[in-house]
Amino acid sequence: MGEFELIQRYFRPLSHNRGSEALVLGIGDDCAVQRIPQGRDLVFSIDTMVEGVHFPTRYAPEKLAWRALAAATSDLAAMGANPVCFTLALTLPEPGEPWLDAFAKGLATASKAFGIALAGGDTTRGALSLSIQVHGTVPCGEAITRSGAQGGDLVCVSGTLGDAAGALRYLDSEIGGSDVSALLDRYHHPVPRLELGEALIGVASAAIDVSDGLIADLGHILASSEVGAEVDVYRLPLSSALKRLAGERALEFALHGGDDYELCVTLPPGKWDGLDESVRSALTVIGRIEERAGLRASGTGQQELVNLSGFDHFRSVK
Ligand code: ADP
Ligand code: MG
Repeated sequence: MGEFELIQRYFRPLSHNRGSEALVLGIGDDCAVQRIPQGRDLVFSIDTMVEGVHFPTRYAPEKLAWRALAAATSDLAAMGANPVCFTLALTLPEPGEPWLDAFAKGLATASKAFGIALAGGDTTRGALSLSIQVHGTVPCGEAITRSGAQGGDLVCVSGTLGDAAGALRYLDSEIGGSDVSALLDRYHHPVPRLELGEALIGVASAAIDVSDGLIADLGHILASSEVGAEVDVYRLPLSSALKRLAGERALEFALHGGDDYELCVTLPPGKWDGLDESVRSALTVIGRIEERAGLRASGTGQQELVNLSGFDHFRSVK
């Protein structure tokens, strides 16, 4: 199958899978055309995934497509952006039709679920890797950045943390267990927090998506904002599925594990009560921003069970 035929057959149909009227021209020309509505800024970002590095060798193509698009789109969620369209640069070895069928199917499902349309791309031969560039928009000047956190702000995270890391350890046979389908789904089918991100515009002082682990990603907010934080590690939201599977290691996975694609946000405490109930219930307050640089842990419990590398030092509040 030639490149032209491959694009026509597998990717062109997805271009009609429009998330938004803002995509004026999709696949088939030299460029795609996106209209930026008046009063909005274009927000864009690119992510690359390489086989054996960012996803397992011989990873199921349907899952690969979903995960790659979710990971890329999650960066839009972290900025509070409304997704519009994406381009896909796909490098693949001799493409088998079943692989392409499944990949295109996964991509179509994900693009529909996240409301982001395929606008174009590039296809080349080589070791399997894919780059996805996502485009979205925010009201002018309103993108939520990493640099706005201020002393006294609440530190919050969405959903539960550590599930994807637990699933990955299970897949690597590092830990065993039964009834793991919910956790595996968190790894294979992460869902970018798009609605939450948009709802936090004008509310959150800073935000980031948790792709590399809470400690690392909160650390980026602290560095960009030139502040520190105290986090109560025992307030971290853990799913019962993770606690069941990972036992005492659940907290370690929640602190250091990546791939959850939840949001970590900071907001002035005065804004909490005014939040929509749906937004409040999606968030857990885990700590406070402090003017003093560094990340400090507070909390009660079996502290010694937690690997707290990443924290300046450990301080028990009780
Ligand atoms: P050019 O040589 O002008 O770059 P291509 O043959 O690479 O054109 O691409 C033809 C059309 O197919 C373009 O609209 C391009 O965006 C689209 N396209 C190519 N590869 C992909 C892909 N993997 N996914 C989506 N669209 C693609
Ligand atoms: Mg090209």
